Amino acid sequence: MAMPESLSPYVIAQSQFDSAAELMGLEPSMREVLRVPQRELTVNFPVQLDNGVVKVFSGHRVQHNITRGPAKGGIRYHPNVNLDEVRALAMWMSWKTALMGIPFGGAKGGVECVPENMSLAELERMTRRFATEVALLVGPFSDVPAPDVGTNAQVMAWFMDTLSMHAGFSIPAVITGKPLSVGGSEGRAEATGRGVRSVTLQALAGLGVAPADATVAVQGFGNVGSVSATLLAESGCRVVALSDVSGGVRNPAGFDMDEVAAWVREHRTLKGLPGAQPISNEELLTSEVTVVVPAALENQVRAEVAREARCRLIVEGANGPTTPEADAILAERGVGLVPDILANAGGVLVSYFEWVQDLHSFFWEEADINARLESLMKRAYVEVDEVAGRGGWSMRQAAYTIAVDKVAQATLVRGIYP
Ligand code: NAD
Repeated sequence: MAMPESLSPYVIAQSQFDSAAELMGLEPSMREVLRVPQRELTVNFPVQLDNGVVKVFSGHRVQHNITRGPAKGGIRYHPNVNLDEVRALAMWMSWKTALMGIPFGGAKGGVECVPENMSLAELERMTRRFATEVALLVGPFSDVPAPDVGTNAQVMAWFMDTLSMHAGFSIPAVITGKPLSVGGSEGRAEATGRGVRSVTLQALAGLGVAPADATVAVQGFGNVGSVSATLLAESGCRVVALSDVSGGVRNPAGFDMDEVAAWVREHRTLKGLPGAQPISNEELLTSEVTVVVPAALENQVRAEVAREARCRLIVEGANGPTTPEADAILAERGVGLVPDILANAGGVLVSYFEWVQDLHSFFWEEADINARLESLMKRAYVEVDEVAGRGGWSMRQAAYTIAVDKVAQATLVRGIYP
């Protein structure tokens, strides 16, 4: 009997790294250095809930690699946050920042909690205490967090305020994804979805499919999913399936994204969207469409989904949505895939722009930011596509070899301290 596929994000991240290391003939001692995170901090801290009860929350901040610059990576609030997930997400950030050629390492953080069930005041207290606990690692030149699942610009503002209060002056560059009023960047909220659109349109062009002939299904309707769907619709694609944690909705004629946005603003979920047929998340992932964009969580595209997939292309808006087994099945079945470390890199790119703007106290226009984002996304896509074509590799293999090589080169030239 076949072994069940491993769903530990850390095991998956390491196995993706191992495959790339093998493919590129990476030296054994370098493999040992790069396949584990450099620093891991776990914190357990009390927060007083609104009803007076004190609850202890567990959180983590992991820095996978800081050879190329300050650690960079989001903070997740979700019930499934655990150290192995944070390790994997941190490792993926190291490859993403290297692939995009921005001077950051890779990190991630998270708190195990159910943000939907917490009041704003509880979220604020939890954020401020978590920020205090991880202040050991975080700073504008050491480790710069950002939003991820379950966190948003408001959470970033509390985080920035807490570390600024400790210092006695404002340190906007300590975190990115902030509101504009405290040093946030134009274009940051849409950046990840904008990058997803950029690589999707490039991949469609590669397939010889015009946007107007493409149908799209997007899993997840948060920051990444909603913007990706909206911008792809704006570019002429027909968005025919959407989902969130409550399930999915289908409309073969294509959704009017303004109507969807208005519904979600009012009801906070896609459930019950008028004029749409309900579908499951699995049905969404196996829909007969040109492009599927998983933009929710890890391990959504597993072996059984890959066997049933009926799309031509998967664009990974989420981090780690595809298991290695599914990857192999998709490749065998000729389904194209734009990997996470390329597809969703728009977010960290504009986070980089935000950090640079904060350090200089000089802010750029939105058009400028979007143009730089497009140009860097295009450059990275072309590079990955070329390396994949030359090596006969998948885009994930190509992206990994480019990224791992950059981190390895930096490690080599810096040498081992002491
Ligand atoms: P978010 O919290 O804004 O939204 C998450 C969405 O996923 C919500 O619509 C939620 O309902 C949905 N969801 C949760 N569980 C689901 C399930 N089992 N099935 C279907 N939908 C489900 O989060 P986000 O910031 O949009 O992040 C989504 C993914 O993109 C994550 O993998 C994240 O790491 C990645 N990512 C985010 C950014 C960013 O800038 N926010 C950047 C790069 C990558």
